Amino acid sequence: MGLYLDNASTTPVDKRVIDAMMPYFTDKWHNPSSLCTNGTKVRDDVEKARSVVADFINAEPDEIFFTSGASEANNWAIRGFDDAYNCDKDRLLRFESQISSIITTTIEHKSLIEAVSNPMLISNVYFCGVDKFGFVDLDALEAHLCNRSKMAPKLVSIQLANNEIGTIQNIEEISSIVHEYNGILHTDATQAFGKIPIDVEDMWIDMLSASGHKIGAPKGIGILYKRKEVDLMPLICGSQMNGMRGGTENVPYIIGMAKAVEVSDINGVEYGGWSGLNWHMEGKRDKLINDLVNIGCKLNGSLSSRLPNNINIMLPEGISGESMLYVLDMSGVCIAVGSACNSHSISASPVLKAIGLSDEEAARCIRITLSPETTYDDINYVTSEIEKAIKVLSC
Ligand code: PMP
Repeated sequence: MGLYLDNASTTPVDKRVIDAMMPYFTDKWHNPSSLCTNGTKVRDDVEKARSVVADFINAEPDEIFFTSGASEANNWAIRGFDDAYNCDKDRLLRFESQISSIITTTIEHKSLIEAVSNPMLISNVYFCGVDKFGFVDLDALEAHLCNRSKMAPKLVSIQLANNEIGTIQNIEEISSIVHEYNGILHTDATQAFGKIPIDVEDMWIDMLSASGHKIGAPKGIGILYKRKEVDLMPLICGSQMNGMRGGTENVPYIIGMAKAVEVSDINGVEYGGWSGLNWHMEGKRDKLINDLVNIGCKLNGSLSSRLPNNINIMLPEGISGESMLYVLDMSGVCIAVGSACNSHSISASPVLKAIGLSDEEAARCIRITLSPETTYDDINYVTSEIEKAIKVLSC
């Protein structure tokens, strides 16, 4: 079957998740909004699933909204904030018609970057740069916040961990800066969710996006967490989820998302789930980084504040990431260049450019992302395949 090392892109659906979902396709297919007995039973199960997800990040169940994935959640956070503050006359009066601002970074996921680049957006948008490890420039963040009037609504959207280079931001520090200036903090936690502990209270996060398919749930399910006090307009209008997200709930996928969360919880170590990565993975990740550095590769991103399953390296001069990907693919090893969402585009990854790499250097980078099933034998195998490929490709 080969060796799959592109788990930041997506993961296979966990067998336990499939088992939990199946009854909702066959026997329990009823509409959770139906008042009939079967409908209310399904509604109860959806609410249990919501509680599981809420507990996982220390939120209240009514602060969790199921979406079609993290892209929708990111778009909703941005658009919903913009609409809430700029298209509502009462609020405009309350905020003395002060135009709102959205402050984000140059290394966000495309779904966020494109959402803030939407010409329909009324808010002013500012971008903060990052240093060579991918850490957000906190002085720039503070300067952007400080330049806005105290009254003007401000949304700061900064990812918790980067999908390409794995850098984990110091979200507590970011949060204290944002709240000092009366801002609202949204974080795209898609890559961090289920891999590092997240507590929205301790971290003082106001909104959070996450996706199921990075931790063994199917593609097409995610969440937006929204603190009760945060004003947000719906992106998809309708009656469901208290009028905040229209559309009959995708019950099997909601159940699957909760199951994926359950199996990735602290019990991850025991059950081999995703959050077990903290303990299982770092050793393997660090061995692979070391082995690759020893054969002439260079690590991108931070070593100390890095997702437990992420390795992003620059290959020696003259060897492109793309040619490495194809050579490894022939040996049955699946890796990525850039991020999965733009691996078909020929332009250099904006994240790698943002950390200071030239186009030529960015084209030499590959990303390897481990899973709970990755073994030390796999690590040795991929290292030897990369070493062989370097020799072949540098001839
Ligand atoms: N944000 C980040 C950081 C991601 O890595 C991804 C998935 N590549 C997304 C958002 C989008 O998630 P989804 O596929 O659930 O829309």
